[in-house]
Amino acid sequence: MNRKSFIKKAAMVAATGGLLLPSCTGHKEKTNEGLDLSTRYKWKMVTTWPPNFPVLGEACQLFAEWVNQMSAGQMTIKVYGAGELIPALEVFDAVSSGASEMGNGAAYYWAGKAPSAQFFTAVPFGMNAQQMNAWIYRGDGMKLWHTLYKNFGLLPFPAGNTTMQMAGWFNKEINSMDDFKGLKMRIPGLGGKVLAKAGGTAVLSSGNEIYSNLERGVIDATEWIGPYHDYIMGFHKIAKYYYSPGWHEPGSVLENIFNLKAFSELPYHLQVILETASARMNIWVISEFEAKNNEYLQKILAEKQVEIRQFSPEILATLKKHTNDVLSELAESDPFAKEVYTSFTNFASGIRNWASYSEKLYHEL
Ligand code: CA
Repeated sequence: MNRKSFIKKAAMVAATGGLLLPSCTGHKEKTNEGLDLSTRYKWKMVTTWPPNFPVLGEACQLFAEWVNQMSAGQMTIKVYGAGELIPALEVFDAVSSGASEMGNGAAYYWAGKAPSAQFFTAVPFGMNAQQMNAWIYRGDGMKLWHTLYKNFGLLPFPAGNTTMQMAGWFNKEINSMDDFKGLKMRIPGLGGKVLAKAGGTAVLSSGNEIYSNLERGVIDATEWIGPYHDYIMGFHKIAKYYYSPGWHEPGSVLENIFNLKAFSELPYHLQVILETASARMNIWVISEFEAKNNEYLQKILAEKQVEIRQFSPEILATLKKHTNDVLSELAESDPFAKEVYTSFTNFASGIRNWASYSEKLYHEL
């Protein structure tokens, strides 16, 4: 595109006054004609997080506040922590059925309903937070995600990212792939499948059991999130080693899900507010995780109760090989999973090449 046509196109985009993000909901066809400001909307938001859960639960409360402020009180949203209205893992169904107008969680929790949902949170050795945003907002990610969730009467938007996680807490040294043999580790989802290929056992433990299971030796290792949440869990008091990097969750996307019918029936300006507040939530969560993880890693280092280690390049290369097998199997599970896998892996390999000229060199300074 030459300079003149670029400027012309930019002026056209500005004139339409559309969203900054390419909307996949048909927003740009709609207008605020006959704007209705009189009807009040009182919505529920069910979440997969314990009440007041650091960062993730806080972000839901902030979202509700922002929507209230932006809509001048026309829309109020009451946030429910897991177990307050429904259990955590019923969020998807509750929003799908319209029992709750919206929810917050992570797409990989719904792998049992749609295997390809996992690509919209994180897959092992996948993309980091900014790369996931690039795929979702500017690549085909959002379109594919909307297509998948439409089958369930849902509309998803990204609403945060945990950023790079840590590999986890271990009471055994991991010096070679042999050390994974017989390792009992709490690691959910695809990471758990990769561990199984390496000869370990993925053990399911709910959040409140993990600490006592690790302390009593029921498990040898656990992953959780990153330094901030991990410190709150107290793992540094009972584990010998804290390994990095979080190869299994390099940037897990959190989601706001809306009941498609409830969303479509809203006046256009409220739809824009919900989409925009979700994007603000995305930025808030990423910033919070980055700042807090830094702060708490320093605490963990200063307290010297745990040794911080890195997996060797050989270990990471082997885990990556197992991951490729796990992802290929996932892609074969249904035709749509294959489509998402192809889009994801093509985008990831392209953007990783770009990063090799940019971020990677910069981080080595
Ligand atoms: Ca995790």
